[in-house]
Amino acid sequence: MSKMIKGPLISLIVPVYNESSNIMEFYFKVTRVMNQTGYGYELVFINDGSRDDSLEKLSGLREKDHRIKIIDLSRNFGKELAVTAGLDNCRGDAVIPIDADLQDPPEVIPELLAKWKEGYDVVYATRNRRDGESPMKKMTAHLFYRVIKSLTPIHIPQDTGDFRLMSRKVVNALKELRERHRFMKGLFSWVGFRQTSVSYRREPRFAGKSKFNYWKLWNFALEGITSFSFLPLQVATYLGFAISLFAISFALYLFITTLIGGNPVPGYPSLMVAVLFLGGVQLTTLGIIGEYIGRIYNESKQRPLYFVQDMIGMDDNKDMPRIKGVK
Ligand code: UDP
Ligand code: MG
Repeated sequence: MSKMIKGPLISLIVPVYNESSNIMEFYFKVTRVMNQTGYGYELVFINDGSRDDSLEKLSGLREKDHRIKIIDLSRNFGKELAVTAGLDNCRGDAVIPIDADLQDPPEVIPELLAKWKEGYDVVYATRNRRDGESPMKKMTAHLFYRVIKSLTPIHIPQDTGDFRLMSRKVVNALKELRERHRFMKGLFSWVGFRQTSVSYRREPRFAGKSKFNYWKLWNFALEGITSFSFLPLQVATYLGFAISLFAISFALYLFITTLIGGNPVPGYPSLMVAVLFLGGVQLTTLGIIGEYIGRIYNESKQRPLYFVQDMIGMDDNKDMPRIKGVK
């Protein structure tokens, strides 16, 4: 064993949902990189209700390597909450959420750590390329970041996922945000602190399939917009205002043309158009209001964000000195 120096501890937070075929490869790659950095570290895996043998694989690894911690959630809560569970329970001085499918390359971690050493509190990793994803996914992702950017007042870095480094200060700030509808990308930026970025190439998944289909992505986008913007509600107001103006001018026009030329044909088509159009606008705005009310309802229930079935190894390093430079 090499010298025992009390140094900073790095926590990697890994949400896992049916990632059995990725875990081993992920573990080998990540430990190789982390061992080279010389920092003490812990790998906090959050088993998000996997239905395959991910948990067994993790427990097997834990027996050999005590830097592995496991939080086993009581069911599938979704990636955002799995990451939250990790943030709540990790102890690192710097914390890095990273996907288990090796799409976030561990090789970028030393760069993140270097920037952290320079004094930044958030170092986010921005993708400059996405390999192995369909043109449709690339296009929708591109659109997503642009729409979010134009609708929300806070700066959410483009093409940046959850893969980033956060200092303890930032993690403590995030722990205070207990909203149920969690759009992590937004929350990460909302807390502020000194931020910088490094760029990397997004790799294709090592094995298995993405759990995000287009319906999920659409809901994810809605979450992002409604969590950080009132603009859709305001659009309803302005749309209503514009339509009223139009209706008044149209009424005036009808009034004048009737005065001048009489009313030879009753206006059935224009009536239908007006009724259907207004009906459509009203339903849409009601729907938008509904999206917000549903979220208010959910927040008002004040339920806990997640439940934990089991924690393995979480209080390990309470009385252990932090060890630097030990393999
Ligand atoms: N994940 C999770 N719970 C879920 C869905 C996904 O913990 O309900 C994890 C998954 O195991 C992976 C990460 O979140 O580690 C990213 O998921 P995925 O690769 O499916 O998303 P994508 O890369 O396509 O955005
Ligand atoms: Mg992935």
